[in-house]
Amino acid sequence: MLGKMMYQPLLISSLIEHAAQYHSDTAVYSKEVDGTMTKSNWLSVSDNSKRLANALQSLGLKSSDCIATLAWNNRRHLEAWYAISGSEMICHTINPRLFPEQLTYIINDAKDQVLFFDITFLPLIAAIKEHIKGIKHFILLGDRDEKVLEELPNALFFDELLAENDTNFDWPQFDEKQASSLCYTSGTTGNPKGILYSHRSSVLHAIALCMPDVSALSAQDVLLPVVPMFHVNAWGTPYAAALTGCSLILPGPNLDGDSLVSVIDDYKVTVALGVPTIWQSLLTAAKNKGSTLESMTRTIVGGAACPPSIITSFREDFNCDAIHGWGMTETSPLGTMNQIKAKHKSLSRDEINELRKSQGRPPYGVQIRLMGTEKKDQHVAEDGESQGRLQIRGHWVIDDYFTHKPDTITEDGWFDTGDIATIDEDGYMNIRDRSKDLIKSGGEWISSVELENIAAGHAEVKMAAAIAANHKQWGERPVLIVVKEEDSNVDEAQILDFYKDKVASWQIPDKVIFVDNIVLNGAGKMMKNNLRDEHGDVLLEQ
Ligand code: AMP
Repeated sequence: MLGKMMYQPLLISSLIEHAAQYHSDTAVYSKEVDGTMTKSNWLSVSDNSKRLANALQSLGLKSSDCIATLAWNNRRHLEAWYAISGSEMICHTINPRLFPEQLTYIINDAKDQVLFFDITFLPLIAAIKEHIKGIKHFILLGDRDEKVLEELPNALFFDELLAENDTNFDWPQFDEKQASSLCYTSGTTGNPKGILYSHRSSVLHAIALCMPDVSALSAQDVLLPVVPMFHVNAWGTPYAAALTGCSLILPGPNLDGDSLVSVIDDYKVTVALGVPTIWQSLLTAAKNKGSTLESMTRTIVGGAACPPSIITSFREDFNCDAIHGWGMTETSPLGTMNQIKAKHKSLSRDEINELRKSQGRPPYGVQIRLMGTEKKDQHVAEDGESQGRLQIRGHWVIDDYFTHKPDTITEDGWFDTGDIATIDEDGYMNIRDRSKDLIKSGGEWISSVELENIAAGHAEVKMAAAIAANHKQWGERPVLIVVKEEDSNVDEAQILDFYKDKVASWQIPDKVIFVDNIVLNGAGKMMKNNLRDEHGDVLLEQ
């Protein structure tokens, strides 16, 4: 017998409707491309989304059309998001830091019909426009601009579209399993792969994100998503923000430490989300400026392993809880989040610090398990020690890539993440490595993440990557690539000495290579495959 309760599809438009109805005057601040900070609110964001939805309809666009965006975290981008998904079209956020060939590939792969863009990316579009003929309309996220018309004679302008359309628009109701947005993975190998989220998965993910044991987001918060809207939908925060009616600060293009400290202090940000490299520069800038980041109660760190030194510094120097989480584009991204349980309250400070280094445990909605690295169909014990391939399933986990079936879904319906992890009896998961980044020395595994975390704790190391270098005797040995802090004279011997007593002696890197810069991919992660290409044979050459 069916229950006798109302059924309403879980649609993204219901989030913005809620925010407009119950949090109409809550502020949404936006750093524009020209550097100005503008103030809006949820009612105005909702009204503009409706105006734009009318505009999209008059342009002849229809359900399931892919509409791309090349833009920073700003108000117009947010309004375009709600207009597109709310109208049953697919919002395809593009990472502007991809190579031009990759941009062309994904725009054509997605069959994008429209491209919304910030002025910053005009040169990028000009360079590839001959190769993306499927785009029918280029729309600048701004007011009329003659420079744009010289490059793209038929371009349209967001502000003009808003002025020409009214707010008389009813969000269509449709199946919650319809596609809402599309993100491509950063693609460190091969062509990027599209991940197509649904309304249902996005709304359930947004609800989960707000749970107390995840980010505890509420209407009392001032939320700063530093993670870009083109990186897994800014981890779902623009949806969660509307759902809770919290105040939202969209930081625009300037994500350096100094700019972020100013935004946090000026707008009294309570919670911010981003990748570890961002937080490293924020901590340095805050210390240099003498800011205590007083308003911040917590920060959520994920996307790459967060060095324990960052977590400790947030907690001890800034009285700000640093919550380590793990996820992937394929998991929307929320997979695990590190929050303690009641039984941990009696642990000592050191024990708590140790526990909170891990990537945390799954919230309701997803499950994780470990399977063998060699014997792939064998379960690995969840004892906090044994390592295995991390697999996940749940309401917001990928089932199928946009254009092709993944070979990473197991026969019994789990997604194989490609990460190597341990899980303890309470579900706390520790990422040991990407399977392709693990270093196998004489048959024993060495975790590159662990070596990087130790290096990051050295006061004179700005950034470090541990890679597997080919070795005649051992197969592979670790080599550490280091960017020094400015004015540092630290040398190889001092860095290697720093590893003593922190790892077994055979795990200490064979060599340290100093470089000026380590290239980060569009999501702020170190391009370790480039480093392997460049330095992978350094030990053979010796
Ligand atoms: P992406 O889909 O580009 O977000 O990349 C997902 C991958 O980033 C995961 O499979 C992990 O290898 C890595 N990753 C994400 N969060 C963490 C974390 N907290 N610690 C370690 N690795 C992480």
